[in-house]
Amino acid sequence: MTAAIINGKELASSIKEDIRKTIAERKEKNLQIPGLATVLVGNDPASRTYVANKIKTTAALGIRSFSYELDENCTQDELESLIAELNGNPEVHGILVQLPLPEQLSEERVLLAISPKKDVDGMHPYNAGLLARKFSEPLFYPCTPSGIIRMINSVCPDISGMNAVVIGRSPIVGMPTAMMLSRCNATPTICHSCTKNLDQICRNAYIVLAAAGCLCLVNGSWIKPGAIVIDVGINHIPDPDAPRGYRLVGDVEFDEAVKNAGAISPVPGGVGPMTIAMLMYNTLQAVQYA
Ligand code: NAP
Repeated sequence: MTAAIINGKELASSIKEDIRKTIAERKEKNLQIPGLATVLVGNDPASRTYVANKIKTTAALGIRSFSYELDENCTQDELESLIAELNGNPEVHGILVQLPLPEQLSEERVLLAISPKKDVDGMHPYNAGLLARKFSEPLFYPCTPSGIIRMINSVCPDISGMNAVVIGRSPIVGMPTAMMLSRCNATPTICHSCTKNLDQICRNAYIVLAAAGCLCLVNGSWIKPGAIVIDVGINHIPDPDAPRGYRLVGDVEFDEAVKNAGAISPVPGGVGPMTIAMLMYNTLQAVQYA
């Protein structure tokens, strides 16, 4: 048996196309056009590339883009006063501060400074708190977890009652994804660096989500026959034949896992494109809170 490939790139394209059409219709009807402000602090090359991709995508979908760059040495007050200005700007519906920030800046304080109504990353403690409450709805669901749930639902619309394992408990990926799986009535087990018998827990799971950032952490033989495997991990391995001298691989031993899984997402071309698509989706949703 060979698993179906969950093509995040194709899924993301269809979500983005729907957003593009909705925004074109809004333009025709003279309704407000969503605007996304991106804030890049410093010169980290990976962050610069992520922000550039987001700006490129906003332009392709007709979303207005407001791009800000601050110096590597900027102070907390400078960054927070920019956020306050963006909170008050009616043309800006979503604010994205690219993480990680330089050492002198507090990410917690920055996340708190963004208005929950413009928190299109879904990271503000207000939205994170609502996500954790069974009968509440956050204003925004965080982007990567939302993309993951859509990928799972693309091959299995009803995951109620299924055992799931989430490897990683970060506030960006692991923990909110576990909460979203629970909201879908799956039964997630959250694993981390101190978890014992990870292999046994995986063997018992119908959904395996790997978000540890550890190359080949999940052995292909751990995958239950027919399971859904979502690989969030991004690891760089040297490859002299690749244009940049490296290639990207995930946390799952793909070549072996693909023989057991029912469906599996690749790296690259899996979760990555979905994260950007969901950021655009949240930016469109943000117009309703203006
Ligand atoms: P993170 O904050 O470093 O968290 C990693 C988590 O994995 C931690 O909870 C850690 O446990 C756990 N972990 C580490 N080694 C482990 C092991 N050997 N066994 C079990 N658990 C282990 O990372 P993150 O921000 O969540 O990102 C995780 C990965 O996803 C990274 O490769 C990142 O690049 C990728 N990512 C991809 C996207 C995308 O859009 N494609 C988005 C975000 C992240 P402790 O809590 O005990 O330390």
